[in-house]
Amino acid sequence: MQEITLSSGARFNAETGISILDAGAKAQVSLPYSCKTGRCSTCKCKVISGETYALNPESGLTDKEKADGWILSCVRTVVTDIVLEIDDLGGTVLPVAKTLPCRINSIERLTSDVIRVHLRLPPTADFIYAPGQYINIIGPGGIQRSYSLANANSADKMLELHIRAVKGGAMSEYWFNQAKTNDLLRLKGPLGTFFLRDAADIHLIFLATGTGIAPVKAILESIPDIPIQNRPKSVTVLWGGRTPDDLYLDVGGMPGGHHFIPVLSRAGDGWTGAKGYVQEALGAIRPDLSSAAVYACGSDAMIHSAREVLVQAGLPRQRFFSDAFVCSAEN
Ligand SMILES: Cc1cc2nc3c(=O)[nH]c(=O)nc-3n(C[C@H](O)[C@H](O)[C@H](O)COP(=O)(O)OP(=O)(O)OC[C@H]3O[C@@H](n4cnc5c(N)ncnc54)[C@H](O)[C@@H]3O)c2cc1C
Repeated sequence: MQEITLSSGARFNAETGISILDAGAKAQVSLPYSCKTGRCSTCKCKVISGETYALNPESGLTDKEKADGWILSCVRTVVTDIVLEIDDLGGTVLPVAKTLPCRINSIERLTSDVIRVHLRLPPTADFIYAPGQYINIIGPGGIQRSYSLANANSADKMLELHIRAVKGGAMSEYWFNQAKTNDLLRLKGPLGTFFLRDAADIHLIFLATGTGIAPVKAILESIPDIPIQNRPKSVTVLWGGRTPDDLYLDVGGMPGGHHFIPVLSRAGDGWTGAKGYVQEALGAIRPDLSSAAVYACGSDAMIHSAREVLVQAGLPRQRFFSDAFVCSAEN
């Protein structure tokens, strides 16, 4: 057994061969993560001392980051005792993931390449999650893919997913050409650490592209339940697509008391709203980033660009939270 020490002073034991992230979970120390496949870099942290090796490729890191000592805790294991520069999730305890059966309750086409799926849990299922988290669907042939939960809670045993077709994708082939009402599937979850942190006195900003609006919708639905003294100072949602058809939800009409800014990268002549990318549209409204927290979800490119631009413009790095919808097939 080796010992891992975090920036907070927390320590836990880890076995060689088990990822640092999983070793933390085993010791009930929650570390930030999302894809768990070395791609999204949500779990990026720095080795201050000690030796580690990669269990799987760390494609979410640049060569420079690797040379500078950055690693991805989801695919790294320890060789010796190590000291890590990483923020743990403090006292936050997230629900433990479990595997459950579920059936497709409905499938609704929202755009030419996006569907909304409602999954029905067994009446006795006890499934709790933090709005913003995702699940893995285990589909035909055992393939697993990740999808964010788009509703704030499953009190009626229904889970809502927004699924975009990926050309040539194995699970897309199922969802868009084979799936039908009452199909039996399995899910594993809840997973991920994209959930709303303490928002009191904070200007909350959500950036989403495409189906990245799904977890944002779940979080917005949960805001009215926050006690008044803990509510954010303001909530702004920027949602980006290419054309008006990509913006398939009435985000302005949702609960959450937010200001909504739709953004189009290929706007036609009739579009009078914001143009370009969500991170650019955010820059244009010159928000007070020193007292903001940004939650970004959707394309990896948007998340990387937004993090760099916003941190440079004054956003504290530890107040940028993200969930990148990278390929979730196993390495
Ligand atoms: C944490 C997390 C949450 C996610 N939530 C959602 C969600 O709510 N809604 C949603 O629509 N998708 C979501 N995704 C993406 C989803 O899990 C799948 O990766 C995606 O649907 C493709 O699966 P597939 O089996 O159809 O394609 P695959 O068979 O896995 O891949 C086919 C080809 O497409 C490429 N590819 C796969 N996924 C992507 C991608 N996202 N971007 C670009 N290229 C890709 C692959 O590299 C491969 O070449 C999420 C991913 C993660 C990691």
